[in-house]
Amino acid sequence: MAHILLVEDNPLNAKLASLILTHDGHEVVTATDAAEAEASLRARPPDLILMDLGLPGKDGYTLTREIRRDPTTRDIPVLAVTSFAMKGDERRAMEAGCSGYLTKPIDRMRMLREVHELLGRRSTAEAVDGST
Ligand code: MN
Repeated sequence: MAHILLVEDNPLNAKLASLILTHDGHEVVTATDAAEAEASLRARPPDLILMDLGLPGKDGYTLTREIRRDPTTRDIPVLAVTSFAMKGDERRAMEAGCSGYLTKPIDRMRMLREVHELLGRRSTAEAVDGST
């Protein structure tokens, strides 16, 4: 069970992703824009961030770059979610510091596979750190 911050401005997409993650046993906190996400990150850093790249105002690319620059949030995996299935979009997301990439419409199995992989990677890193 992980604490996941879901950043998504579309209410239906947020509800769907939240249901999938909650049903998988995770605790989900939602933010509808960058300001809400930043407040949530300050209040309680999550284990994983699901980041809609298309947000009103400050977009997900910019927010992810800022998360990567901040020492208190830089190690949190960011899974990008985008509806722009454009060439180069995935590369742009990875360059901004995203750890993985999903395209809408959300596929439940694919989302859970990516989430588990990113959470597993984090656990492995912690285990390695703890043993030294
Ligand atoms: Mn959006």
